[in-house]
Formats: sequence, structure tokens, C-alpha cells
Amino acid sequence: MAHQWRGIVAEYADRLPAHVQETVVTLGEGGTPLVPAPVLSDRTGAEVFVKVEGMNPTGSFKDRGMTTAISAAAGRGAKAVVCASTGNTSASAAAYATRAGMICAVLVPDGKIAMGKLSQAIAHGARLLQVDGNFDACLVAARKLAEAYPVELVNSVNPDRIEGQKTASFEIVDALGDAPDIHVLPVGNAGNITAYWKGFREYAGLDAGAAHPAVATRTPVIWGFQAAGAAPIVAGYPIDEPETIATAIRIGNPASWAQAEDARDTSGGLIEAVTDEQILAAHRVLSAEVGVFVEPASAAGVAGVLALAEAGRVPQGARIVITVTGHGLKDPQWALRTPDGSDVQPVRVSADVVSIASALGLD
Ligand SMILES: *Cc1c(COP(=O)(O)O)cnc(C)c1O
Repeated sequence: MAHQWRGIVAEYADRLPAHVQETVVTLGEGGTPLVPAPVLSDRTGAEVFVKVEGMNPTGSFKDRGMTTAISAAAGRGAKAVVCASTGNTSASAAAYATRAGMICAVLVPDGKIAMGKLSQAIAHGARLLQVDGNFDACLVAARKLAEAYPVELVNSVNPDRIEGQKTASFEIVDALGDAPDIHVLPVGNAGNITAYWKGFREYAGLDAGAAHPAVATRTPVIWGFQAAGAAPIVAGYPIDEPETIATAIRIGNPASWAQAEDARDTSGGLIEAVTDEQILAAHRVLSAEVGVFVEPASAAGVAGVLALAEAGRVPQGARIVITVTGHGLKDPQWALRTPDGSDVQPVRVSADVVSIASALGLD
């Protein structure tokens, strides 16, 4: 084998803390494709790429932070971890904990988890508890459990998560040769926007210490997008009953709220809201025109850029990277609905070439 990507801890060892490197628990995460999206470039007048984080081992960017969080826990001899999750954190924690021989407890909000994610957590042997409450309530409970009992918290309030997730910024700069003009991503609990900003800053030689020469000449402007029914940072106050079909960002009181505002303000960026309709329209553009299948939350960044383009707010010719955060197979039902809300019905034909050709309009 000429070269196989070794996972982010090995690939970016010199930029990660020593304590995550003693007992490395990896499934080969990171090294995800940065895909040019000419369709989005045409629609926006910018040069647009999508960073396809659904290509991580469990199908979302959470794996970047889970390899570091579980490695650190393993290094300390931890036997059990806990997380609150809208789905992808639990899928990832369950896989990495299994790999490390640990017990994984998962607190998920009652009835609001996409089927693909639930089945992953169960398949990997997590102790899954459906909590009578929303994500924010699950996170409060998980934090208290980790304080009072011998279990480690692996939500993104764990700084090792942020360390791992910052490597996505490194990969983007490594691929493009410098930071993009604008980096765009969905915002839920706001760990990822925190991590990207940290990574871009460190690669530009800021906050990184003398041992780390600058790789990028600059940092990008950061644009974050929340779902309109779950947009506390946009509103300026917590949302008690967040509602959106984009379950991965259905969060009313983000744990990394202040860090998200810092990324926005220090970068000269913005955090705005997109409606579920805009998210589903962007989801359709990504799958039907770009060729990338994502879960609804992952389309929020694309929805935001398309909305700003329509308002004439996208700088023409700018180089823009949009992170699409999770795989479409996590929550596949949305592809089976037409824009007017009815179910897509497969066309039935008999098994002869003439009727198949006729159904395809080839005659
Ligand atoms: C976790 C998640 C998000 C939100 O990321 P935060 O770090 O919570 O802001 C967005 N999309 C997907 C697919 C996720 O799994």
C-alpha cells in the first residue's frame, strides 16, 4: 500500500496535544474530500467547494473530535463515557468507545433522533436512554452524570473534541494552499464553528506558539447558519422549544455560544437563520445537482449561501468552502418527498424492454 490516510491524530500529531497521542483510538477519520461545486459557483458568482464530512467513518464530522476525546479518555484509563446527542455524537461515541473497549452511555431526546443514527448507536452497543426532554436537557443531565459518577463526558464542551475537529480547517488549507475567503457551516451546539475558527487561526500562525510556523497567510471570514426554529444566537436569547426538521441543529441553548460569537465577530463574519424550506431546497440542489447526499442539517450552510447570493450579498469571485456535516443516509426520508410534500412513488413496469424503454421516454 503506497499511502493510507492514518486518521487525524497521526496526520496532525505536531498540532495536537500530547495527551491524545498516548493511546490512540482511531477508525481512520478525516482526509475527507473537498469537492468543487460548479453548480453552486454558477448560482452565486463565487468559487464554491464543499467539504464532505459525511465521508468520515460513522458518517459525520463528529468522528474528528471523538478520536481525540476517546483517545484522551483511554489514556487516563477511563472505562465509560457519556454523551447527550441529537444523533451523530451518539453514533460516533458508540463506535469509538467500542473500539476502545469502553461502555458508552447515550442520552437522546425522546422521539427526535433520525433512524440511521439511532441504529448506529445500537449496533455499536451503546447503552441508549431516551430522555423525556430536548437536547439541552440531555446535555445538562450528561454533564451532571459525568461530575458525580466515574464516566467521562464526550460532548463538544470537552476541549479534546474541539482539538480534533479543528483539523478540518487544516485539511482545507492544505488542499487549497491557503485559507478560503469565506468558510461556511451549520451551527447547532456551536462546537464545530469554535473548532474551525481555532484551526484556521492556528494555521495562520495565531495562538499557535513559536513551534508552529504559519501555513496560511490569513484566516477566512466565518459564516454560520442556524435553522430558523432553532436560532438562539441570531435571536440573542435561548429558545425553549427549538423546532426544525434539521434535527442535528435542533438546539436552543448552544454550549459554545460565546465562542461562536467570537468566531463571527473576530472574523468579520455573520450568523444568520435559514428556514426549513430553504434547507430542504438546498438539500435537493446538493443531491440532484452537485451529486452529494447529505442529511438536512448539513444543507444549512448551502441554504445560507444561496439566500445571501439572492440578496446580492456574496462577494463575486470569492473562494468559499461550505462544510456539509453529515451523510444523507443518516436521515434518508427527506429524499423521498417531493417539494410539495407528497411521497415519491416508484414507477412500476413489467420486466420487458419495450415497457421499460417507454417508461424512460426512449421510444
Ligand atoms: C453536530 C452536527 C451539527 C452541529 O454542529 P455543532 O458543533 O453542534 O454546532 C451539524 N450537522 C451535523 C450533521 C451534526 O452532526
